[in-house]
Amino acid sequence: MKVLVPVKRVVDYNIKPRVAADGSGVETQGVKMSMNPFDEIALEEALRLREKNQADEVIAVTIGPQVAQDVLRTAMAMGADRAILIRTDAEIEPRVVANLLKVIVERENPGIVSMGKQAIDDDMNATGQMLAAKLGWPQGTFASQVTVADSKVEVAREVDGGTEVLSLSLPAVITADLRLNEPRYATLPNIMKARKKPLETIEADSLGVDLTSHLKLVSVAEPPERTAGVIVETVEELVEKLKTEAKVI
Ligand code: AMP
Repeated sequence: MKVLVPVKRVVDYNIKPRVAADGSGVETQGVKMSMNPFDEIALEEALRLREKNQADEVIAVTIGPQVAQDVLRTAMAMGADRAILIRTDAEIEPRVVANLLKVIVERENPGIVSMGKQAIDDDMNATGQMLAAKLGWPQGTFASQVTVADSKVEVAREVDGGTEVLSLSLPAVITADLRLNEPRYATLPNIMKARKKPLETIEADSLGVDLTSHLKLVSVAEPPERTAGVIVETVEELVEKLKTEAKVI
């Protein structure tokens, strides 16, 4: 069984994003970019399936500009066998990402698509669900445990009331939540080895998918600055302020 792992290149999670001066988006020029953290978790899970002999090939795929191949090299340094860059300089929304991934899924025939529950740049939390719907495959979203057995995959999900366990027939789409696993680091020898692993580049506009966006980003703004707090002397004073100033009681 092949496992396909879509990984997105995003502003590194340690960086505080800055809004571009013209409000057109978040500044990415000269900013450290990395693999979306939820995609690292999805990749780790795929690698563990291969290590348990439940998968025989792990393929990383990203959709983005030429420079996005750096996250594919990272994916291969972590252990992916090969990688595919679907190259485009266009800003693409989840619907288009799902349409492009569908073409790759139909070409590669993976048993599982293991992806992040959301990309931390746009927080869309949509691509996995859309891909499953377009393929007509079952989906196990927000997975906190994944068990493959007898052509099925069990996915445990953290829901409000506790843990829900779903049994999905394969092939299926799984989206990884934070507690699924702790991803491994790429070691230096593996970073060197990854340079020799196959990385295929496909032009996005050669796949017969309409890349136009139906979403328009209107504006991006910094959150309002927090005003300084005050220290109250008594509970009575606190209650008074909550009533008259904050107007919350
Ligand atoms: P989103 O729906 O944008 O929050 O993204 C959910 C997941 O879809 C991510 O964690 C990735 O696994 C995948 N994904 C989204 N955008 C891309 C992209 N440009 N290239 C590859 N995978 C992507």
